[in-house]
Amino acid sequence: MKVFIKTLGCPKNLIDSEVITGYILKGKNSITKDSSEADVIILNTCAFIQDAVRESVEEILYLSNLRGRLIVTGCLPQRFKKASRGCDFIVGLGRYDFWERLGRGNLPESCLLVSSNNYIFNDTNRVLLTPAHYAYLRIAEGCSNRCSYCIIPYIRGPYRSKKIKDIVTEAEYLRDAGVKEFILIAQDTTNYGIDIYGEYKLPEILQRLSTVDGVDWIRLLYAHPAHLTDDMIDIIRESKKIVKYIDLPIQHISNSILKSMRRKVTRERIEEIVKNLRTIPGMHIRSEVMVGYPGEGEKEFAELIDFLLSVKFDSLGLFKFSLEKEAPVHRDGTSSDLLSIEEIEERYDIIMEIARQLSYEHNCSLVGRTLRIIVDGLGEGRTQWQSPEIDGVVFFEGDARIGEFTNIKITNAEDFDLFGVTTDSFLHTRTSPS
Ligand code: SF4
Repeated sequence: MKVFIKTLGCPKNLIDSEVITGYILKGKNSITKDSSEADVIILNTCAFIQDAVRESVEEILYLSNLRGRLIVTGCLPQRFKKASRGCDFIVGLGRYDFWERLGRGNLPESCLLVSSNNYIFNDTNRVLLTPAHYAYLRIAEGCSNRCSYCIIPYIRGPYRSKKIKDIVTEAEYLRDAGVKEFILIAQDTTNYGIDIYGEYKLPEILQRLSTVDGVDWIRLLYAHPAHLTDDMIDIIRESKKIVKYIDLPIQHISNSILKSMRRKVTRERIEEIVKNLRTIPGMHIRSEVMVGYPGEGEKEFAELIDFLLSVKFDSLGLFKFSLEKEAPVHRDGTSSDLLSIEEIEERYDIIMEIARQLSYEHNCSLVGRTLRIIVDGLGEGRTQWQSPEIDGVVFFEGDARIGEFTNIKITNAEDFDLFGVTTDSFLHTRTSPS
């Protein structure tokens, strides 16, 4: 069978698609990039907010008109647990039994399969869909935080950590396959280990990975500030060779909003964390905030703006509050303080302009420096401070091998991207990061 697979949503979904691809390629099948020639079309969907649901449904409508049999998987079927028009198969998360059958070419006529919310997840059977030199490493699945606005615990179940030895084995396997850059993910990476070891074990993961020869860069995404301890920051400091990028989603800074969001962290603690991280030379701190949360008045929004302008994260992501019916905020009545769509849009534009400014200032500070980058494509790469698909890239002139590190003198900066020229000869090989 020729199989086409399209992935929407976040890197967690991308890993799921990599696992599915592993099952497909175990059998007598191939992957095609052309959806119109596929015998089987797999759409891996996102559904955590209404916009994502809309995008998934639009894709289903488009793909259901093609000749291949359509399998819809991921968060959409896991959230709604019902058939969608035009789909031959509806498959929730963690249904490895179905993918195994598909790999063997043994498809039923049609089906509707979802999982219990604490399905066992397993990433060992993966075929990377990213370029060979970087990979996401999922250290846990699900989430037990139950932030008021979020339905991820409802879709993906409670927090389940992988075992340390399995994560290290997976990293070694990926390193042997050519991966140099590891992007650690989970819904909440700093909570790692608490469910199976009774204590936070992210420090141990970082320590163990930093001793794996050939692991050059580690990015830490989704580091929930409520669980980021000073000990963890010390370990990050000690692993100075490789961890230079942390994504710290704060969501807001007003204590009343943080409390209502059930983020279990205060403004004062967030300030302490940022101050502490800033003492680590070369550490890039990315954050993410939400605009338009119910009850975010002029005062709370002004507090958020002042904070962002004073703390100056190196990069910033943002999203708009979206009221989802399964979210705690929908049930506990806070939704009576909803902002209008126009107000949310206006606030989004204001914070987006701040995000642009912060990124531009950060990029300008790099002009004139020579930076080590990893080469993603012809004349394009990323510094240790640019995460794939999240931050900008470096465009450069000169020769460099894809998948290798090279040094680039930065000559120009734009809002999100950098420009430069190579300073290395073409035969640059793996060295320790600068
Ligand atoms: S930490 Fe909060 S926002 Fe993040 S996945 Fe868990 S419940 Fe959702």
